[in-house]
Amino acid sequence: MRRMSNGEILARLRTIVGDAHVISDATTATYATDWRKRYFGRPVAVVKPANTAEVAAVLKLCIETRTTIVPQGGNTGLCGGATPDPSGRQLMVNLSRMNRIRAIDAVNNAMTVEAGCVLATLQQAADQAKRLFPLRLAAEGSCQIGGNLSTNAGGVQVLRYGNTRDLVLGLEVVLPNGSVWDGLRGLRKDNTGYDLKHLFIGAEGTLGIITAAVLKLFPKPCAQATAVVALDTPRAALRLLEHLQSRCGDRLTAFELFSAICVELVHKHFDVAAPFSTAYPQYALIELSDTQPGGGVNTLLESVLEAALESGIALDAVVATSGTQAKQLWQLREHISEAQAAEGPNIKHDIALPISRIGDFIERTDAKLAGAFKGVRMVTFGHLGDGNLHYNVAHPEGGDPAVFIARTAEVNRAVHDSVTEFGGSISAEHGIGQYKRDELLRYKAPVEMELMRTVKRALDPLGIMNPGKVLGKLDS
Ligand SMILES: Cc1cc2nc3c(=O)[nH]c(=O)nc-3n(C[C@H](O)[C@H](O)[C@H](O)COP(=O)(O)OP(=O)(O)OC[C@H]3O[C@@H](n4cnc5c(N)ncnc54)[C@H](O)[C@@H]3O)c2cc1C
Repeated sequence: MRRMSNGEILARLRTIVGDAHVISDATTATYATDWRKRYFGRPVAVVKPANTAEVAAVLKLCIETRTTIVPQGGNTGLCGGATPDPSGRQLMVNLSRMNRIRAIDAVNNAMTVEAGCVLATLQQAADQAKRLFPLRLAAEGSCQIGGNLSTNAGGVQVLRYGNTRDLVLGLEVVLPNGSVWDGLRGLRKDNTGYDLKHLFIGAEGTLGIITAAVLKLFPKPCAQATAVVALDTPRAALRLLEHLQSRCGDRLTAFELFSAICVELVHKHFDVAAPFSTAYPQYALIELSDTQPGGGVNTLLESVLEAALESGIALDAVVATSGTQAKQLWQLREHISEAQAAEGPNIKHDIALPISRIGDFIERTDAKLAGAFKGVRMVTFGHLGDGNLHYNVAHPEGGDPAVFIARTAEVNRAVHDSVTEFGGSISAEHGIGQYKRDELLRYKAPVEMELMRTVKRALDPLGIMNPGKVLGKLDS
């Protein structure tokens, strides 16, 4: 190893990517602050390579100088995974210039794209090729596919199409030793040993830098039906989900649950139309999609919901009669996070549970929190069809938010202990980053933690890639 000053490192970086693409002035602070403004890092620089060869050259320089790397996509991650530490020594590798769609193969239903492509751009490109790329989330206008792959992002269509992990055929990765793994194969069957791409998906940049991917495309649905259904309890929502799955099969593309308080907060902070004149305890937003044109899917949804109302599973229902009305119904769901932020601080939990146990989990955990933290409000919503809840706990109305936030660790303990009792996971779709690193250590089985450390040591013995994220210290 050769010791180099920061000045020398910057000079070498400029020869690799060009002067304009090495940022070391005060503007690095924007890159080094996470979306929720919870973490504030200080990097040696932000470097923006244009292609895979430049990423590999940057990595080799980092190995030579033992400079650690923090990869960054759109910086919309919610766990501080793309934020450097405050040491002033970490290098941020921002992938935004690697934004080419290399190829679309409509017959193979696949597209080969670079890691810095913004998700919404990929959705549009697929649409133009008369195909669907189904990953859909509220950050799609900013997040990049490299970030989506590295966090194994979920979103609102997982029920039908799976997580990001399920949407990938191949990857290209620059490894922590500076070599390039070209795994850009567009194969649906490839039983030639370990499926290496899955090591990097969800690794949050700790095992290498993803530079490109082959993504799956799907037939483009041309008919959609959307409804909001009023329900009594989360258990009733589970019965409705089962009812819809048995009648509609994989035409069911979204099943989102949200409670009365979510709707109250949306109406308090935003001008979004109310679906019903009365308030109900729970709501489900449902979407069916079909590749068959015509109104078949609407008729199906109406008849299935009619049966649900007759049998008493549902209390009320509104089916959108136009695309505009469907968008309005979605707005209810999509504004919940922002409405919650406008209401004040809350303690968030992105958790997964076996779908069948969600009703019991909510009942028991709500009661536990109400007993231990007087007046707290449970703002529970999420992708019920995937067993994924955003189980957020808001401060008591009229109470001092700072006093409540000071009890974050206690609230987390109560919620995460309950998640574990119910056989769930403390991170469903947002990942671990630095935010949940210590919680992971507490709740993941020691044998699993050691397996992950073994993989990390094998691929990245120098600890170059995103240290302090996911695993923390390797000897802990
Ligand atoms: C309004 C809003 C709504 C959201 N909704 C959802 C949702 O419904 N479902 C969901 O799953 N998430 C959601 N998220 C979280 C976030 O959008 C996702 O985690 C997204 O996948 C992050 O992508 P990004 O490009 O912004 O990654 P970043 O935030 O830049 O990085 C995330 C992690 O990936 C690593 N990384 C980034 N690019 C690469 C690369 N090329 N190679 C290796 N490592 C890399 C980073 O080091 C970091 O650890 C939401 C966020 C916001 C702000």
